[in-house]
Amino acid sequence: LRQKVEQARGLPVETEDGVAITLQLNVGLNTERDWLKELDINSVGLYRTEIPFMMHERLPTEDEQVELYGQILEQFTAGTVVMRTLDVGGDKPLPYLPMDEENPFLGWRGIRLTLDHPEIFLVQIRAMMRAAVGRNNLHILLPMITSAEEVDDAARLVKQAYHEVAEESNGHDRPQLTAPKLGVMLEVPAMVYHMHTIVDKVDFFSVGTNDLTQYLLAVDRNNQRVASLYDAFHPAVLYALKQIVERANELNKPVSVCGELAGEPGGALLLVAMGYRTLSMNSYNIDRIRWIIRHIKASDLATMLEKALKARSAQEVRKLVTMTLEEAG
Ligand code: PEP
Ligand code: MG
Repeated sequence: LRQKVEQARGLPVETEDGVAITLQLNVGLNTERDWLKELDINSVGLYRTEIPFMMHERLPTEDEQVELYGQILEQFTAGTVVMRTLDVGGDKPLPYLPMDEENPFLGWRGIRLTLDHPEIFLVQIRAMMRAAVGRNNLHILLPMITSAEEVDDAARLVKQAYHEVAEESNGHDRPQLTAPKLGVMLEVPAMVYHMHTIVDKVDFFSVGTNDLTQYLLAVDRNNQRVASLYDAFHPAVLYALKQIVERANELNKPVSVCGELAGEPGGALLLVAMGYRTLSMNSYNIDRIRWIIRHIKASDLATMLEKALKARSAQEVRKLVTMTLEEAG
């Protein structure tokens, strides 16, 4: 099976009826270099910067971050790299930034924390931009956005960092820096209904199905006791995802999915059926998803999606999706 799916490397990622899908990588550490090269993927849809932060004993300095981000950007000069700003808190505490909260997932995490610590945020986005000088393949993504004000505040800091770094590095014989594109994670349910309030400030949306599922279903994504209730195939989650892609299309903004659902065979089918055309996933899911996309007809997925949205449970959706996958071979 492994050989069979690997044979699709180098071939176009499109359905049998010609719908092209862009696959991108989710990465966290820079250890998979050789293996990533083999996969034939140009772009990173999600670089989780908190992972190197969690492995340090203190905040990495600006220069240390420049070095780290430069290594990632250098590997993907043929495409783009979406770097997400620090998304700690919740299940990802930093050992050197103590937090003691009763409800960490509803607490001080992601953009909330970095807007309270603009000095940490500015160092990070300056480092990203310094690493991007001369490469210009950087996109910046903001996690856990709940309101338009957060986007305003973050966008202001991003602009400030850009002016600083551009001024420092745009000498006459120095390479230029262009302003990185700015995106927002859609992972807090409120934002599903509020995309129009931030559309003017952002260049793209990226859907975080892991947190969106957790918050829509009110189920802690890491709590074993309620693990059976945590399911992105819940028809209500599917409704939200469909609404997001429709809204993004109406607003004329690119949208992609970087949550785990995009790397699951059935999830990828549902997302393509809804109209998503860019999916970002862990490296080990790429071959399989590429193979599946090449063996389905987008037109056949419409009926599956229609039934899935009417289903009463995630289990029912799974059955429908499994049937479609079996038909694809
Ligand atoms: C998500 O929430 O779906 C996501 C991609 O981000 P993380 O898993 O890092 O919270
Ligand atoms: Mg998330």
